[in-house]
Amino acid sequence: MTKAIYPGTFDPVTKGHVDIVERASKVVDHLTVGVVTGSLKRTLFTVDERIEMFAEAVGHLTNVTVQSYSGLTVNVARAIGADSIVRGLRITSDFEYESEMALMNRRLAEDIETICLFSALEYQILSSSRVKEVAAFGADVSDLVPPNVWKPLVERLDERKKSSS
Ligand code: ADP
Repeated sequence: MTKAIYPGTFDPVTKGHVDIVERASKVVDHLTVGVVTGSLKRTLFTVDERIEMFAEAVGHLTNVTVQSYSGLTVNVARAIGADSIVRGLRITSDFEYESEMALMNRRLAEDIETICLFSALEYQILSSSRVKEVAAFGADVSDLVPPNVWKPLVERLDERKKSSS
């Protein structure tokens, strides 16, 4: 049985992430989405909120589970019996970072492979940070996130705006 982990911050999950999960779930027998907690990045949503939104967005896939993790991805991969790490690539932005990370992970764990997948063309310029940035200024980009994500995103951005003014 082939198992993989798809690690990320997912703050919040976008349709680009879901697209990668759908593709990966066809390639491996079981995919664990690993939602990072305790990283240096300041997040808009708590880890539990990020997990809940992601789990709902991929509820149609029976071989995918979503859980939190902290520390080195390769250690978590070992702990759950995954032999590969899935990452998503956007044509213009991700290659340098992802290849450095993949080679570092190989140095840490020679037996764990990184599998890079490309999302659909329509999601190539999509990132959680860009969605948050434009949504904070009132743009309707609801078509770029799963249906369950848009309302909590707008509400959280509103709360942030009120508490900082
Ligand atoms: P990280 O904090 O690890 O960058 P992200 O949540 O931003 O976490 O992304 C997790 C993974 O998903 C990364 O491999 C990233 O390149 C990939 N990814 C993010 N958005 C897209 C997208 N629109 N298309 C393809 N891959 C994506």
